[in-house]
Amino acid sequence: MEQKKKVFIETYGCQMNFSDSEIVGSILLENDYIPAADMKTADLILMNTCSIRDNAEQRVRKRLSELHSLKRKNPSLVIGILGCMAERLKDKLLEEEKHIDLIVGPDGYRSLPKLLEQVESGQKAINTLLSIDETYADINPVRLSGSGITAFISIMRGCENFCAYCVVPYTRGKERSRNPRSIVDEAINLYAQGFREITLLGQNVNSYLWNEEGSLTDFPGLLRQVAGTHPEMRVRFATSHPKDLSDNLLKVMADFDNVCKAIHLPVQSGSSRMLSLMNRSYSREWYMERVEAIRRILPDCSISTDIITGFCGETEEDHQETLSMMRWAEYDYAYMFKYSERPNTIAAKKYRDDVPEEVKSSRLDEIIALQQELSLKSNRDDIGKVFCVLAEGTSKRSVNHLFGRNSQNKVVVFEKENNKPGDYVNVKIESCSAATLKGTVIQT
Ligand code: SAM
Ligand code: SF4
Repeated sequence: MEQKKKVFIETYGCQMNFSDSEIVGSILLENDYIPAADMKTADLILMNTCSIRDNAEQRVRKRLSELHSLKRKNPSLVIGILGCMAERLKDKLLEEEKHIDLIVGPDGYRSLPKLLEQVESGQKAINTLLSIDETYADINPVRLSGSGITAFISIMRGCENFCAYCVVPYTRGKERSRNPRSIVDEAINLYAQGFREITLLGQNVNSYLWNEEGSLTDFPGLLRQVAGTHPEMRVRFATSHPKDLSDNLLKVMADFDNVCKAIHLPVQSGSSRMLSLMNRSYSREWYMERVEAIRRILPDCSISTDIITGFCGETEEDHQETLSMMRWAEYDYAYMFKYSERPNTIAAKKYRDDVPEEVKSSRLDEIIALQQELSLKSNRDDIGKVFCVLAEGTSKRSVNHLFGRNSQNKVVVFEKENNKPGDYVNVKIESCSAATLKGTVIQT
């Protein structure tokens, strides 16, 4: 019998990429591949890449030079690049990195078995066609993350918002949503397999819209259906675009205990002038009104954000507005980045990347320091409260402790006692750092 080939997939970037790697894994497993325990034993290495900032691409390039030496030792090793870098650079990547055999963009994964045959016949293979309707709805992803408790469900793909700084509309193509029935079925299957938390994923998850012969399912409608599958299945979603954060969505979140009370709402900048240059389609005031709506309808909801510092033309005054927005919103958590110019985006074509590197760095330091204070304050305010925590696994620091998350998406560590991953545990918070809550189990 022919021995099955071993594949190793390394994933970079956002949760969408991790979810896509599970789809790729599923396609390959159906085509006679098995997972390799590590890179060194693999016959096929796939890197699912990210282009969002220059340093994301540089990391992949560095890794590729390491793979070069593996290929020298084992010339039959096949190396493929998937995802956003594949889409952005296309055959240029094949010219620049001679040891790559295969390039596949985010909408081309179904063609992988064919492309691999082509590679086996000694040719290089490439598919970077973008699609208007590919959602991989019928593919049952293999769950690579391994916890067996939490899983991603990708519900929409692509983006057409064209924020001035962003490469995503060019690498992931047009916005399209997935059939709601296939999403609900996936949620039901995951519960039956023992999963207890799903995260609905999309570049702008709350822009989800399915049209079936004139009958529309929007994101609040979909969330209602998914949350209704089982009261013990927690539901999260990411990332929300502020423009589509409707009161209706907040009300559905309020209606279901199992819809987690955590919203990731990227602000990018606190200055309306910057937001307009960024083409974000909302102003500072409009965003603040949406935060007020969250506070009004979901008083115990956490809010996290993304911030870009040093975008084209950003002044000290604009920067101060970002800091004041952060203080006002009291974000529980934030992902903070220096602006990185991406080729062919609107900003690269129209504006000058004119904030000096050292100014970008010092503004980023200030933003990170402020967020550290805000996260610590938010966690300190939780001391004494009792949260229902879904246990996900054993704590890295101690085998006698479990870790999990509360509804607000904060990591909570507590003594194991008789609990195991997958259990819902009531934990009273006793202490904290800026990143973690620690507590003791309360018997109910
Ligand atoms: N679709 C989501 C939204 O609009 O809020 C965000 C998706 S993007 C993959 C994740 C984050 O990367 C963005 O929210 C933004 O903060 C950051 N980002 C995108 N392009 C960037 C760039 N050129 N430089 C620095 N950060 C960038
Ligand atoms: Fe990029 Fe803007 Fe689309 Fe988000 S909404 S993926 S930041 S273009």
